[in-house]
Amino acid sequence: RRSLAGRRKCLVTGGAGFLGKHLVQQLQDSGRYDVSVFDIRDAGISGVQTVVGDLRDQAQVEAAVAGCDTVFHCATAAPAAANTANKKLMHDVNVRGTENIIAACESQGVARLVYTSSASVVFDGRDLINVNEDAPYAARPIDYYTETKVLGEKLVLAANGRGGLATVALRPSGIFGEGDPLLVPLTVAKAKEGKMKFIIGSGENLMDFTYVGNVAQAHLQAADALAGSQPACAGKAYFITNAEPRPF
Ligand code: NAD
Repeated sequence: RRSLAGRRKCLVTGGAGFLGKHLVQQLQDSGRYDVSVFDIRDAGISGVQTVVGDLRDQAQVEAAVAGCDTVFHCATAAPAAANTANKKLMHDVNVRGTENIIAACESQGVARLVYTSSASVVFDGRDLINVNEDAPYAARPIDYYTETKVLGEKLVLAANGRGGLATVALRPSGIFGEGDPLLVPLTVAKAKEGKMKFIIGSGENLMDFTYVGNVAQAHLQAADALAGSQPACAGKAYFITNAEPRPF
């Protein structure tokens, strides 16, 4: 499973996306990985083989995973309102697609699967302050996208130990940084429309934001941790955060 240079062979699903691109860059920079990308659009990153394919297609997923020892499953159907309302798309990509990834990892003898989850899997609309990973999943997730992230995470964690596969789930909250297509551009657009003049609640609400480079780094560290003998993190989920939450 290692290339001639002794590097690990890995696949990044969603490698053409915001987080995926940063992760691919860090994996390349580490010099320890031969990186391939699986995405529905071409990542166009030099030095990286991109397999343009659809997570909903089991045969395409199997072919992309073959020969890898580590899979980083970052892809998601974009949580735009239209998609979130399109439950079939969300379910097919985020739940069925994750099932396809797990099945491929098992059949192809992949050693490690790192799943990008979301901090919102524990959020059901009520304030959560200083919670840790003991917090239960939200009984009523805030939207269907989040529901699919819960289902995906449960599937990945349940797959830990099956056929020699070690899994872990990482839960960032709002991600910001270079190439951000959503958070900052949307905030700026709203400001330009004059829609930043409202204060919700006391104005002291806190929100957890994480720098994209830190989220990517967490993925490398998680893969390294899974590579140890009897890794303590296997089968578990971890919040990924910068430090203190920020006013929102
Ligand atoms: P993104 O939309 O920028 O990237 C997702 C990628 O998945 C895209 O390149 C897209 O083309 C690809 N994709 C979509 N459908 C596909 C399919 N059917 N087959 C193959 N590829 C497909 O999203 P992102 O912000 O980089 O998010 C990455 C991960 O982080 C996701 O799992 C997301 O749930 C999670 N996450 C993101 C945030 C955030 O604030 N951005 C917060 C918490 C968790």
